[in-house]
Amino acid sequence: MSNKNVLSVKNLNKVYSKKSSNSVHALNNLNLEVKQGEIFGLLGPNGAGKSTFINILAGTVIKSSGEVIVWGFNLDKNPRQVRASIGIVPQEVNFDPFFSPRKILELQAGLYGVKKKNRITDTILKLVSLEDQANSYTRKLSGGMKRRLLVAKALVHQPPIIILDEPTAGVDVELRKNLWKNVKSLNTQGVTVILTTHYITEAEEMCDRVGILNKGNLVALDSTKNLLNKIKTKLVKFSVNQKVKIEGKFSEISEVIVNNDNELSISYDKSKLNIENIIQYINKQNIKILDISTDDGDLEDVFVRLTKN
Ligand code: ADP
Repeated sequence: MSNKNVLSVKNLNKVYSKKSSNSVHALNNLNLEVKQGEIFGLLGPNGAGKSTFINILAGTVIKSSGEVIVWGFNLDKNPRQVRASIGIVPQEVNFDPFFSPRKILELQAGLYGVKKKNRITDTILKLVSLEDQANSYTRKLSGGMKRRLLVAKALVHQPPIIILDEPTAGVDVELRKNLWKNVKSLNTQGVTVILTTHYITEAEEMCDRVGILNKGNLVALDSTKNLLNKIKTKLVKFSVNQKVKIEGKFSEISEVIVNNDNELSISYDKSKLNIENIIQYINKQNIKILDISTDDGDLEDVFVRLTKN
């Protein structure tokens, strides 16, 4: 990884104004930089502003104010060069079912003005392991192959940066692993990767650095490792003998409780409590504990803490 920034965002704001109701401040003074060669994750719950951010980079949403520099190009002055520097992998699969992967990549290259002699269609097909399906109808491809074709489409103009928008939303585990492998190998070849996700594990396993957005505000920005080190919380799960109504009950021992039928997941501050305190507390409520499992905190804890309320 180099120290060169491939993306630099200063005081970026987006306000969606609606005639009938209040306006929405979707991005609030966003400042961040992405370094060349890294895998950067933008994490946040629904409505955090992730799509707005990506759409501004893609040129489909106009920012309200602030400065965006991509690959050295200022979005206000050189929007075309900005567009040429990034490849965007969208969430939705939307191919003409009767076109082949080769045809789709050729059309996309045409759209980006890549001259025939400069096209690398076969290389890309190989990269995403679709060389055997190069000439099949895309409607015959599996879900995983379609996803890989989306990635391939984003690569036709050989952008130094690719952006994956919720790459694995609704994708099964096998496919997800496969896609991550592909993205990692692209990254190894020098492509800087930015991905948005609301899956914490995705960020944890994939990303060198993570920014957490909540309601348009960047509430954390650090290396994945540092974020994990900061965690003071510990998570413990109790399986219990009854459905427990948790409203208000556990507020004195824990900040985060997830109640799932006969299971209580309690996240607590290690510096203030130990597991004995928690067990005593549960016993006092006349709840019988059947089983206990613990976990050291993970990014999920940071996320929940930073984005609740
Ligand atoms: P995310 O991708 O993290 O789910 P979005 O960027 O889609 O978040 O949305 C951020 C906020 O902006 C939300 O409150 C959303 O309702 C609002 N928003 C998004 N797009 C529009 C739009 N075209 N018009 C008005 N409000 C919008």
